Amino acid sequence: MKVLKFGGTSVGSAKQIKEVAKLINNGDKCIVVLSAMAGTTNTLVDIADYLFKKNPEGANEIINQLEKSYHHHLEELLSTAEYKQKGAELIEHHFNLIRSFTKDIFTVYEERIILAQGELMSTGLMTYYLLENGVKAELLPALEFIRTDKNAEPDLAYIKEKLLQLLETTPEADIYITQGYICRNAYGEYDNLQRGGSDYTASLIGAAIEAQEIQIWTDIDGLHNNDPRFVANTQPIRQLNFDEAAELSYFGATILHPTCIQPAKYANIPVRLLNTMEPEAKGTLISNVSERDRIKAVAGKDKITAIQIKSSRMLLAYGFLRKVFEIFETYQTPIDMVCTSEVGVSITIDNTTKLAEILSELRKYGTVTVDQDMCIICVVGDLKWTNVGFEAIALDAMKEIPVRMISYGGSNHNISFLIDNENKQRALNALSDKLFNQKNN
Ligand code: ASP
Ligand code: MG
Repeated sequence: MKVLKFGGTSVGSAKQIKEVAKLINNGDKCIVVLSAMAGTTNTLVDIADYLFKKNPEGANEIINQLEKSYHHHLEELLSTAEYKQKGAELIEHHFNLIRSFTKDIFTVYEERIILAQGELMSTGLMTYYLLENGVKAELLPALEFIRTDKNAEPDLAYIKEKLLQLLETTPEADIYITQGYICRNAYGEYDNLQRGGSDYTASLIGAAIEAQEIQIWTDIDGLHNNDPRFVANTQPIRQLNFDEAAELSYFGATILHPTCIQPAKYANIPVRLLNTMEPEAKGTLISNVSERDRIKAVAGKDKITAIQIKSSRMLLAYGFLRKVFEIFETYQTPIDMVCTSEVGVSITIDNTTKLAEILSELRKYGTVTVDQDMCIICVVGDLKWTNVGFEAIALDAMKEIPVRMISYGGSNHNISFLIDNENKQRALNALSDKLFNQKNN
């Protein structure tokens, strides 16, 4: 069985939902994971924000608007009186629930319930549409089988057991519909897999059922070899391995959530990225297969902060790096790039909420300098150290651009450059010209 995940824009209107219904109703049994309709989760976040700020009036105004838009979608989507009635009841139920939180104290617990309503509605509407059209569809409630453990990590054994049980009780269905993103936590409360987490749900489900393939349907034909927002004539990449995809999805390619890679990689299930607007396009296939000697893509991640700690105490000393890294650990701040020399170390971070505290601690160990508004440009491909010449080509492409850090050798798939954000577009274009448009590799 395949798992097919459709993002918010793919189910962003009644028309889109009908298109998706056509795509999934192709004769093969499948599990379909849906996001909330485009914009809904953001609106739910806004509603929660008003409620945290004790402004129920503000919240009610957007709740009313959102409800209206759902009635509108419903009118367009469903055609029989029976299903229109069911759809209207569904919407009423979810909006009554959301409204009930405007009247009492509001905590993160209620917020998580509110955030779950988008996926609950999109899947409910899709299921009604399929049933109305005679498709044997079955709704699998994610809240009954997607669960996280006490470390807020997905509880894989539980997910597998519960999901297989649910599938067994409904063997006659052709299409199973379920919610992305939402789950329960170890305490049985509503929770979620973080924004953009529907891809993760699809991957977890794929691994649990040992799916033949996980398909992530979005509105672009796969991962491109550079960022189309900055570079003209980028090309879709046909084939990537999981490690390359992980680097790319973390370093800028927003089409695939980075958390989605790991479960699929370990279960050895290929992930195919496809385009709802152009279903015939080949898209990108991500698997454990590596294509040799190829540079695949370039991506950029901005809003990066670089911190340099220089100290003569580091010379021939051991334990210096540990002390530095411990500070980042204490303040729960992930490090992206690291470059060391005998007398100093440069580190990049993208979460600066604890920057002041981190800097103050670091000053105990050396002279600290900070550069903000930087950008990591990463070049991804088969970059094993024994492959000769690829570093030189990438460096040559960057020859006009001031480079603050270079990192290579951390994995077999990546060279990263840290540059000033204002040079991002130039760098991405220079790399595309050299790597993909001149047939160097
Ligand atoms: N609806 C959620 C979000 O907007 C999850 C997802 O779409 O993946 O973040
Ligand atoms: Mg997404």
